[in-house]
Amino acid sequence: SSGTPRQRVTVLGSTGSIGTSTLDVLSRHPDRYEVFALSAHSRVEELAEQCRVWRPRFAVLPTAELGCALVDRLRTLGVSTEVLVGPAALEEVAAHPDVDSVMAAIVGAAGLPPCLAAARAGKRLLLANKEALVVGGELFMRAVREGGAQLLPIDSEHSAIFQCLPEDRGTWAQRIDHIVLTASGGPFRDRDPKTLRDVTPDQACAHPNWVMGRKISVDSATMMNKALEVIEARWLFDLTPRQVKVVIHPQSIIHSMVVCRDASVLAQLGTPDMRVPIAYGLSWPARIESGASQLDFLTLKPLTFEPADAERFPGLQLAWAALEGTPGSTAVLNAANEIAVEAFLDRRLRFDQIHAVNAETLARIAVPADATASVAGLLDLDASARRLAAELVGRHGV
Ligand code: NAD
Ligand code: MG
Repeated sequence: SSGTPRQRVTVLGSTGSIGTSTLDVLSRHPDRYEVFALSAHSRVEELAEQCRVWRPRFAVLPTAELGCALVDRLRTLGVSTEVLVGPAALEEVAAHPDVDSVMAAIVGAAGLPPCLAAARAGKRLLLANKEALVVGGELFMRAVREGGAQLLPIDSEHSAIFQCLPEDRGTWAQRIDHIVLTASGGPFRDRDPKTLRDVTPDQACAHPNWVMGRKISVDSATMMNKALEVIEARWLFDLTPRQVKVVIHPQSIIHSMVVCRDASVLAQLGTPDMRVPIAYGLSWPARIESGASQLDFLTLKPLTFEPADAERFPGLQLAWAALEGTPGSTAVLNAANEIAVEAFLDRRLRFDQIHAVNAETLARIAVPADATASVAGLLDLDASARRLAAELVGRHGV
């Protein structure tokens, strides 16, 4: 591809699971991509090492103290990357005129402002950070449309749906009867629900098919991850809440399915490896090598399906409850869940109490009628839901 300029990529959350998988895919295509900026939240040493390898123009950390530590490390390494600090710097490297693509791989609602900045600046936005869309909802999608951005789903289920649909979005509504998101069921699919109260953070994070960050791992164990994905799918594909269905498929080989009006079903299959959706997001509409291994159909275990048990996974239903509530309810659910999961990981809350905190926060917060009209309104709502959830953690917690 000599002569074609390389795509300049910002990787937000570059030290995380998705961030490092993204750099792995990029490293296979030095002729196509270069790294423009990297960001991390605490791991200065790893970020310094990534800067040594990738020589980005910018690296971003949350505080001046961490920023100074990185400047020192980079000086020792002889790397000229410029260090920026604070939340506004994330927006700057997401919207910078010299950036083509932004990988949004920060975890949680903290990723919303840089996603919106990339959307408004018309970037190719690779969205792993599902919480940003769950909080931003319609406002997020409007920013994408108005900014002329290209939104590419990275969550494996949403990438699967996207891969099953034609390029022309205008035809989607007419084709789709509903979609089916597959869920592995996580590490506790077969466990007696009565014993879930004793689960430890390490047990909850031991996912059978995927190695991921701790927050999404806990979400997979409660199936709140699937609840967030139902909400994410509603916005990405402009569906009604009831057009999004979930089935447990423990092997994680079918990554999701589109059921068409004529009863034809389109599915996307592959080994469970996030480098596939990442590579597709980077190269769409073309395809590039991802590093993932191919399926071997002759040694594949039988593909099985089962319903999601409501007693074992009560959190899943909250997705439809929030989508059918006052707009903004999904932001409340996400905020509560971020607080509850953090408390569980800190051993301040039992595993089975995560749902109690989420359900009670959702039921008790009165969402103002104009909460979703502005980012400020959404962030206020997010903050008040976090306060109530923290209070409930204090009351229910261990
Ligand atoms: P992770 O915990 O491994 O990495 C998170 C990254 O975000 C790190 O680089 C961290 O430094 C940064 N970060 C954390 N808090 C931050 C904050 N407040 N401000 C700025 N940066 C912050 O998480 P992950 O597993 O890579 O997941 C990232 C996102 O991708 C999540 O939204 C997750 O739901 C989504 N996702 C992950 C996977 C997966 O396989 N890991 C699959 C689908 C979707
Ligand atoms: Mg997923």
